[in-house]
Formats: sequence, C-alpha cells, structure tokens
Amino acid sequence: MVAKVIDNPTLVLNRYWQPVNVATVARSLVLLWNESARVVDPADYQLYTWEDWSKLSPSEGEQFIQTVRLRLRVPEVIVLSEYDELPTAAVSFSRRNVFKRDHWACQYCGCQPGGEELTIDHVIPRSQGGTSTWDNCVLACIDCNKHKADRTPLQAGMRLRRTPLRPTWKPIYARYGMRIESWAKFISETYWNVPLEK
Ligand SMILES: [Zn+2]
Repeated sequence: MVAKVIDNPTLVLNRYWQPVNVATVARSLVLLWNESARVVDPADYQLYTWEDWSKLSPSEGEQFIQTVRLRLRVPEVIVLSEYDELPTAAVSFSRRNVFKRDHWACQYCGCQPGGEELTIDHVIPRSQGGTSTWDNCVLACIDCNKHKADRTPLQAGMRLRRTPLRPTWKPIYARYGMRIESWAKFISETYWNVPLEK
C-alpha cells in the first residue's frame, strides 16, 4: 500500500506554471525536500515548502505516506523553483506517428493489412502543391493508393474516413492509467481524449 502511493504520479509545473513532466510522488518529495520545488494545493493554489507540507495532517480517508515520525499528505501537483524550460513541443511529424495516429488503418477503405501493405498518401498530391504535413498525409493501403494515383480524393471519387489533423496526445500525461482530477486545472482537456499508450 505504502509503496503504491509513492509511485503515484505528480504533475510537475515549471516556474511559469506550465506542465512539463510527470514524476512519482517519491521523486516529488525529494524535490520538495531539496527546496527545488513546492507543492501546489490545487484547491486554492497555495504553495507549500517541505516544512509547511510536513506539518499538515492528512484528512480522514485521504491517502498518506507513513514515515518514521509522521504521516505525509500525498502531493498531486508541484511547481519547480528554478526550472524554466518549456513544455515538450507538439507531437513530431514522423512516419511512426502517422501510423500511430491513423491506427494502422487505410484512411480510405478502413482496412488494416499490416505495416508492409500501408503507404503514406499525400491527400493533395505533391504534384498539385500538397505538402508533407499532418493535415495532408494519411495512411493508405496499396490498392487505394494505386486507385487514387496522382489525384485529390475529389478527383478520384474517394472519401477520407476522417479529416487528418495534428494529434493532440502527449504521451507523458497518458502513460499513467489514472486520471487525477486536480490536474485538469493545469492541463487542457484535450490531453485526456487520447488512447492510453501501451
Ligand atoms: Zn484502402
């Protein structure tokens, strides 16, 4: 039980209060102890140093960490004192990420023939000015790609099953199988609308 609580995720904010990472509760307590971070109370945004935090008692029924001398409350959000790096950039445009976004399925017929049989199709062909970007590249099976050839979907009479967009997932927040309600105040809702990474 105790081991489990210290492995819980804590949201880490940089000193501008932008989410930059997720750390275990154990790691967060070390940062707090080192005075590299303070705990944020998501209810009123009050900040706590180690000294303040260790004086608080967990309320009835709340999770806690048992140390030799005291019971600690479990921090859910911490803010770093020095670190001013910016959050990780948006999901990079790569072959791997296009496969992932399109769930290994042809975006025209929906078949899932496996990686060998899938190609990356430029919706508006490059010969007509189409770019290699999230909103112009989709997975297509070999048959659909052949049929579409150097035409737009309209010219080929084919329909995309969904509009291609830059994915909004951020793997660092989706990695944990648990959702912590208080994080919603710091992370936009779109982060949660993604399938969990296995
Ligand atoms: Zn197809």
